[in-house]
Order: sequence, then structure tokens, then C-alpha cells
Amino acid sequence: MDKTRIRRMGSRSLILFLLAISIFSCKEKVEQNLEKEQEDLAVVEPEEVYEFGFNLNDFVVKRDTIRRGDTFGDILERNKIGYPKIFNIVQKAKDTFDIARGLRVGKPYTLLCSKDSLQQPQCFIYQPNLEEYVVINFQDSIHAYIKRKPITYIEKSATGIIETNISEALDDQGLSLRLAYKMADEIYAWTIDFNRLQKGDKFKVLYTDKYIDDTIYAGVHDVKAAYFLHNNEPFYAFEFETDSVKHIRDYFSDEAKNLRRAFLKAPVQFSRISSRYNLKRRIAYYGNKIRPHKGTDFAAPIGTPIMATANGTVTKSSYTSGNGNYVKIRHNATYETQYLHMLKRKVKVGQFVKQGDIIGWVGMTGHTAGPHVCYRFWKNGRQVDPLREKLPEAEPISENLKNKYFDFIKPIKAKLDSIPFKKVKPKLPMENNLISQAK
Ligand SMILES: [Zn+2]
Repeated sequence: MDKTRIRRMGSRSLILFLLAISIFSCKEKVEQNLEKEQEDLAVVEPEEVYEFGFNLNDFVVKRDTIRRGDTFGDILERNKIGYPKIFNIVQKAKDTFDIARGLRVGKPYTLLCSKDSLQQPQCFIYQPNLEEYVVINFQDSIHAYIKRKPITYIEKSATGIIETNISEALDDQGLSLRLAYKMADEIYAWTIDFNRLQKGDKFKVLYTDKYIDDTIYAGVHDVKAAYFLHNNEPFYAFEFETDSVKHIRDYFSDEAKNLRRAFLKAPVQFSRISSRYNLKRRIAYYGNKIRPHKGTDFAAPIGTPIMATANGTVTKSSYTSGNGNYVKIRHNATYETQYLHMLKRKVKVGQFVKQGDIIGWVGMTGHTAGPHVCYRFWKNGRQVDPLREKLPEAEPISENLKNKYFDFIKPIKAKLDSIPFKKVKPKLPMENNLISQAK
């Protein structure tokens, strides 16, 4: 057999493989987005009579997405509306929605047209995101408004037994990886090291899924409670609002201990530590002399959001040739943090920031060889290594809220405890045969 044929087969199966991947990844997108690709401006028979608050049977409904270079004027002109009227519509709608600038390529729009031979557009509906739609109605007089689609939350539960890692345990059951992220990086970030899970560790989670218009799945909304058995030790987590005015919510243990520390472990997500705090660092560039590095470098792509690692007040937001764009935050009498080499700063001196708030974006301003954020940590005015510090616990539940907390978690804990662990069967073809024979 000649080699070219083998090679061709090889590349063909690669293409098939890539195709399968793209179909797989597209499928989800189509279900989640309304951004369906359509060849031409098609006349669509409405499946549901009511949409966007209109009886679609009263109109000829034309749907499309905004194309590159499309303007509102082009779209209406293509549909036989003259420029004086277009100008008028844009002017009248301006206070509600800036049609001239607000349209984004790939977003869907709908034209409701008259049901006569002219099929003149009566109404332009634009969907900037899954939840909202803008209606510009020019049937008689011109008026515009923005509406939100109804959102429903459905409570669900999931369980898993760790074979290798948490993502796989969820993936095997077709569950959202967002649950893994929530548990690893938000709820248990300080209590369980997810890189060191043991085979046989188990978890249960109570969460809510978000749906738009009852039909469009919009992902995991919130985790209400979780249970993690790690090294045979149980870790409960319950979400509880400690401040109903500021809407401050945290996860607490079954003994009302806050699971969060006062500081995030890193100022950027999905980053890699490229250089640790090191007082004896030697740098070739400086003739191998000792140049202590009193920061921790987190490498991340340019533009990655940088977060305040704890609540505090911005004390500096400026630029120097060494630091580049940088921000410094005072958290309390003991702790301060600083973030260097930002592309852009987002906060001003005197501004109060909460843990996780975006204060700037990763860049390479100042003295730096690559995109990263240099994170500096002060304790009582001295720079220390945050990775070696025993960081303080975040706000505990106040004594007068504790009874309320225990009452609140009682039924949730009972519910969590009553969920059995689902055994995920290994996918063996033999077993499938046996099952079908048994039927
Ligand atoms: Zn550094």
C-alpha cells in the first residue's frame, strides 16, 4: 500500500475527528445561544404564537443576525424603508437604545413586517444578550423599550465519587464543570487542596440552574450547599447571607466557621506562579548579583483581570518606570497588598474595593520581561511571602446571627444527608449487552 494513501486516510480521519469536536462543541452553543447562523434573511413560520410580547401570527417574521458592516439603516433600507424615516426612528429611540452604535456582529434580530404584499417592517427587535431584548416599534408612532425575559431557577443535586479528579467525576455524569470550579476555587479553596484529592473522596452538592424563558439553559447559577468527604473527613459548606443590606454571602461550615480566608490565594484566576518571593534571588542580567524578589509573580495573558485579594481601600493608583501601572490597597492596620505591571488600572485612590473586585488588567508596563502581575504583600509594614503566611479567617458569623444560621442550615443539611451517592457504572460494552439481554 502506498504511503500517500495512508497519509490521506490519516488526515481524513483527523478532519473527521476535528469535525466531531466542532459539532460537539457547537451543539452546546446552539442550545445556549440564540445566535443561530442563517444563510439568508429567511421568512420563518412562528412556532410559538407569542414572543417579545407580540402575537407573531399578526406579522411576517424575519430573523437574522447582525453581519459585519451592517448598520440599522442598511437593514431597514434593504427592507424598503426610506432614509428620512430611518433617521427619525434612530433619533426617537436614542434615549432608550443607541442603534447607531449599539449593534454587535453576530447578535440576533427580528423584523416584524406587515402581512400584506409590501411586507414593510413595523418593528425591530434586537437581542444584545440572552436575557434582554430591545424593541423599537414604529408601527404608528415611534417608541422604544428594553425588556428582560423571565428567568427561572431550578434546584438540583449532584453527587460524585473521585476516581482521578473532580472534573472527571462531574463530566462522567454530564454535569457542568462550573460546579467543579465553584467547589475548588470558591467554596473549598482554603480547606481542601483539589490537586491532592484521594481516590474514593466523595461529594454532594445542592445547586440551582438558571433558565431564561423556561427553555434556554444559562448555566449553574448558585451552589447552596455542599458536602465533601476528603480523607474520610467531612467538610460541609452552606451559603448564608450575613448582611442583607450589602448582600454579603459566604460559605460556612456546619459549626458556623467561615470557609473563606480574608485573602484570595492569587490575584488572577488560572495563572501560574512564575517567580516566588525570594530574598536571595540572583539575576544574570545584573551580573549574578543578589537582587531580592519581594513579590510573587503570577504569569497570565495580557488583559487578564486582576482582583483585589481582600476588602480594603486603594491607597495608590499610579505609574512609575519600574512598577509600571500599579495599585496598592490597605486592608486593615496590619495588611497591605500591591499589584504591579498592569496594562491598565481600574480604581482610584480612596476607593473601597471588595475581595474579588477587578482593579486592573495584566500587562507588561515597567521593568518586566513578560506579561505577569507582581503581587506584593505587607504585614505590619514589612514585605512578607503570602504563600507562607497563615492568613486570617474571613468575617465569622456574629453571635446574634448564629442561632438563625443553625436554624437555616438544619433542613438543608438533612436534605444533603439524605441524598444517596450515585454509582457511575463503568462503560463496558459487555455490561451493555447483559443489560439489554436482561430486559
Ligand atoms: Zn515580581
